[in-house]
Amino acid sequence: MQFKIQVVVEDHHGETLTEDVLTLDKSVDGKSLLGLSLLESKLVLKQLQKTIVNQQADHYTWAHRCCPSCHKKRRIKGSSDIQYRTLFGIVTLSNKRLYHCQCEASAAKTFSVLNEWVPEHNSPELQYIETKWASLMPYGLTVDLLKDVLPINESLDAETVRRHLHKTAQRQDEALRDQPRFISGCQNDWARLPRPDKPLTVGIDGGYVRDCQSRKTNFEVIVAKSFSKTKAPKRLGFVQTLDAKPQRRLMKLLRDQGMQENQQITFLSEGADNVRDLQFLMHPESEHILDWFHVTMRLTVLRQFAKGVCHTDPDTGEELLNKLDSAKWSLWHGNVDQGLDRLDDCYWLCDDTELRYSKRRKLVRHLSDMITYIRNNAHLITNYGEKYRYGETITTAFVESTVNEVVAKRMVKKQQMQWSRQGAHYLLQTRTAVLNGELRDHFERRYPEMSSDTNSASFQEPVKMAA
Ligand SMILES: [Zn+2]
Repeated sequence: MQFKIQVVVEDHHGETLTEDVLTLDKSVDGKSLLGLSLLESKLVLKQLQKTIVNQQADHYTWAHRCCPSCHKKRRIKGSSDIQYRTLFGIVTLSNKRLYHCQCEASAAKTFSVLNEWVPEHNSPELQYIETKWASLMPYGLTVDLLKDVLPINESLDAETVRRHLHKTAQRQDEALRDQPRFISGCQNDWARLPRPDKPLTVGIDGGYVRDCQSRKTNFEVIVAKSFSKTKAPKRLGFVQTLDAKPQRRLMKLLRDQGMQENQQITFLSEGADNVRDLQFLMHPESEHILDWFHVTMRLTVLRQFAKGVCHTDPDTGEELLNKLDSAKWSLWHGNVDQGLDRLDDCYWLCDDTELRYSKRRKLVRHLSDMITYIRNNAHLITNYGEKYRYGETITTAFVESTVNEVVAKRMVKKQQMQWSRQGAHYLLQTRTAVLNGELRDHFERRYPEMSSDTNSASFQEPVKMAA
């Protein structure tokens, strides 16, 4: 049997026009698919899109044919074609070039009618879906999936999707320009503010991705995640060596999280210099803490070595373990000097050529690194035990998972994935926007016609037609 699909177009004067869209031959022999096949659904959508877009463009052109002041018909200079790319295929549009009316004050003599409506030849929703999907999965896979389910332009390739994603990220970065770098106001202003919400916690950490320029090296990306007891978490990410606006970025994160100027903020970080620079001087009510997770991770490594020493020299091994536990206990209570003393003891125990242990030199190096690490970050070490008892956050173990969520899952899953710094940075912008649930808002701000208020209002349930 045949199914004829037609569109009945009704303009605002109530005049109607019927256009054939497509005729489908469907057999009823019980051997073929019941209902629309994927291919047919794509054909229907594509044809329907073509009809609707052309009708809209024709009406728009017609409505702009006359001068808005004197209502005289403008003369036609010529016309050119636009290839308008949508999620439902490419539609060729005829773009009329008209002469401005003599009564209009305009520098240019002519103008193209559709340019104002569609200055870009990619529909915003196409760019949105491309960017959203490519933020979550590889570019090539994005193209495959889009082609699987939509009658999208057959020549769409990974490079085009990448370009569109980069453009979106550039616009996100441009929007940061209006973002202040520091908290505004002074102590007096802040004191007058209402009582703020519970403290915010921001964890900052670094992750590594493979550099496409020199195959054996990695470069660092910084990720941060903010938490509050009352709101959903927000993430940010950037390439450290590339980004000139890390503080604005962090400020935006805090504002999006609903930070108030007098709200207390706890920054937790690994203490590495590059990460640390970011958080200072930003917020009057902020506290900076060396993340307990990183301290304890290093101590765990040292404990493994000490256990190894136990095999060849049980007495020294036991002594090492005791001293390491004691160092941990001291650091847990914020007692840096005592912790350093215990670590020094460990160092001197191991810096002895008489000690029989195959990895002795490695252990000595690790101990020396640990001592330097604690010394350099002494000012960030707090009484963790006390904070823990009060239910405060003392670890960025949750940020480790952010590195995984923001970076690893998309950028280092496969060993062969390599990135340019710029490409990685752009992807981090759109990816965090997707994970934060902000990408759609970003598009709607730029393309108000995408917002649901504009679109859903004109949707009506179909009316059953009489036979
Ligand atoms: Zn006129």
